[in-house]
Amino acid sequence: MGRSQATNRSSARSNSPKLPAEGNFERLSESSIRIGISACLLGCKVRYDGDHKEDRFITHTLGTYFEWIPVCPEVELGLGTPRETMHLEMIRGTRRLIMPESGRDLTEEMHNFSERRVDGLGTEELSGYILKSSSPSCGMEGVRVHNPGRMTARSGRGIFAEALLARFPNLPVIEEDRLCDPRTRDNWIERVFAFRRLRMLWSSRWKLRSLIEFHTAHKLTLLAHAPRAYRSLGQLVACGAELPKQALRTSYEEEFMQTLSIVAARGRHVNVLQHMAGYLRNQLDGAARIELQEGIEEYRKGFVPLIVPLTLLKHHVRRLNVAYLAGQVYLNPHPVELALRNCI
Ligand code: SF4
Repeated sequence: MGRSQATNRSSARSNSPKLPAEGNFERLSESSIRIGISACLLGCKVRYDGDHKEDRFITHTLGTYFEWIPVCPEVELGLGTPRETMHLEMIRGTRRLIMPESGRDLTEEMHNFSERRVDGLGTEELSGYILKSSSPSCGMEGVRVHNPGRMTARSGRGIFAEALLARFPNLPVIEEDRLCDPRTRDNWIERVFAFRRLRMLWSSRWKLRSLIEFHTAHKLTLLAHAPRAYRSLGQLVACGAELPKQALRTSYEEEFMQTLSIVAARGRHVNVLQHMAGYLRNQLDGAARIELQEGIEEYRKGFVPLIVPLTLLKHHVRRLNVAYLAGQVYLNPHPVELALRNCI
């Protein structure tokens, strides 16, 4: 199953995503955003029963923005379709991948395959990954682990998923069922676009100044996720000249992506909105200030979604031409057409 098959189903879209209106990330639109995915979620009939698990939000909505790189570890291992079911099982204290009907133990084969396959994915320049939940190969968390004579525990991780997460610790990875939750969905898609921007920075002939620009554009985004990490990353960049370039890159990427993986709570968004309102205070008349404060307050109380005060702020930032705020990724973290901030 090659890339072309997935691209036929849902290819990189023709009109490029609206990424930060200001800033230096325009090159992003020049190439597609590649996302690895469990092949069955795209509608490929690769499951043990010869069926698929197409997720229409993935294929119809996200497919407009992403180029899929499908992987089915079980079919690629040569198990065929349909095939005997398999599960994780504790045997003498170790977790094994077993076909219970025949008793076949696939642990080593799947482990070796997964190591090779994720190594190969290193050249695909992935910006994210969607895994099929509950699978003993692809499941990321809470996969059933059978334990003869004891209760089955929902504590496992699929063997391929384990290799993937170990090889790409900063890659935004999610299970498809978590995309149903609006905050988790917003967070994962925000991380995908952020990771993509970071990769574009690293692939350029970047200098400390470029990293400072990148960091400046993400200040309010970081503040919404974790104020402490926002300050710590600021210190890292401020001392950047004292570090070897590779060490600076490694530390920045790790802390940046970890910070974004903390889901931004409503209170943190309110802080950021107030910060921006304060920045505009002297340029707004009394009526505009009151309207903005009302919008933020209604969002704080949960009466309106985040998009309401954000739209007001964007309107004022554009109208007053406030360069610092206009350059903030926080105002445009992902394509507006996805309407992710209409639901949180
Ligand atoms: Fe293949 Fe993973 Fe889907 Fe199972 S969950 S059918 S291994 S892609």
